[in-house]
Amino acid sequence: MRAHRPSLPIAPVLSRASFSGPQGRHAAARPPSVLDAGQVRMVTSGRVAIALALRQMGLQPGDEVLVPAYHSPSMVPPVLWCGATPVFYRVGADASVDLDDVAAKLGPATRALMVTNYFGFPQALQTIRAFCDARGLQLLEDCAHCFFGQYRGKPVGSWGDYAIASSMKFFPTYEGGALVSARHRLDAIVLQPGGLGFEAKAALATLENSFAHGRLPVVRALLRLPLGLKDMAWRALKARHNAGAGASIKTSLAPASSDSGFDFEPRWVDKRSAWFSRVIMKLASTRRICTLRRRHYLVLEDATRGLPGCRPLFPTLPEGVVPWQFPLLLDDPESIFERLHAAGVPLVRFAHARWPGVDAATCANGAMLAQRVIAFPCHQELNPDELAWMADQLQQALLAQAVAA
Ligand SMILES: *Cc1c(COP(=O)(O)O)cnc(C)c1O
Repeated sequence: MRAHRPSLPIAPVLSRASFSGPQGRHAAARPPSVLDAGQVRMVTSGRVAIALALRQMGLQPGDEVLVPAYHSPSMVPPVLWCGATPVFYRVGADASVDLDDVAAKLGPATRALMVTNYFGFPQALQTIRAFCDARGLQLLEDCAHCFFGQYRGKPVGSWGDYAIASSMKFFPTYEGGALVSARHRLDAIVLQPGGLGFEAKAALATLENSFAHGRLPVVRALLRLPLGLKDMAWRALKARHNAGAGASIKTSLAPASSDSGFDFEPRWVDKRSAWFSRVIMKLASTRRICTLRRRHYLVLEDATRGLPGCRPLFPTLPEGVVPWQFPLLLDDPESIFERLHAAGVPLVRFAHARWPGVDAATCANGAMLAQRVIAFPCHQELNPDELAWMADQLQQALLAQAVAA
């Protein structure tokens, strides 16, 4: 038994293993990812990439963009930033795009359709592409949950006019997103560096997050003195800054998207992802990311198999799918959520917060999924102990609920 509760990282944290493949010298070819779909621009977040994609599409005030009613609220402000209006369409009970509803929502001002590959599972992209082609719609493929994988032999992100990704959901980086296009040139997008403060913040925050979860102990020991000095300098700087402008210096150095908020900050739109993040993405073993995410997903799926009151949102994990998280559909989500949250299990309730006004009347399935799906981390940086502990907590919670019922 553990004396204290382990602090499980909800997202990947940097470790020594980040750079080594599980098969070591037998590492096979690089797995396909959204970065293979076409020309790429590395930015600071997925939402910034959405804004750039919509700007590239030439959206005008009055234009409409179809956005799934089952969404992260961070997907909407970029639409408004372009002057366009979001129109929310329905999804099925399995989060698939409801093309009948999309067709019903089409109007003379509709310019683009945003489609999300939820939790790493691609939508029916070929059908959706044909639908858009037949109607002169531009397709924005949201691969925020789906950095890796392929669909019908092409890398994810290949089907949209533009695709976006959120690299910080898959790599141990503090910030990062990508805009990709298989169909249009991105030459007109010239990114500026984020500045020295931002570069320093991206590196230090990555390391500090890693240390906070007990990773990289040797690096931590080596950096103890310099980081202590940094903290002193930081506090002094902050005090001076706050005495002056009042705004927090933290928000001026790095985008809010890195602090799990839903804010959209236009000043980061044309900024390049940090050097440190891009180096980590180059050096990280993508084979390891894909192998371990699938393996961890299956461990969690196995732990819940046959237990009452739940089933995985997706019935199987098809070959080539690299999951963002393990989404579990629960009959009575609140008691499970409370129990696991109290135990310290990191949980995500995707779309639990949605754009104001989007509710069960907009999309009953979206509201149902937002309520009943609880997602568990399955990322590559969970160590075997952490994974086993989480699977055990989940099993206990489901069994306790079954006994109480
Ligand atoms: C997280 C997310 C985004 C935005 O990505 P950020 O990198 O957080 O800006 C877009 N779409 C979906 C479905 C997301 O979950």
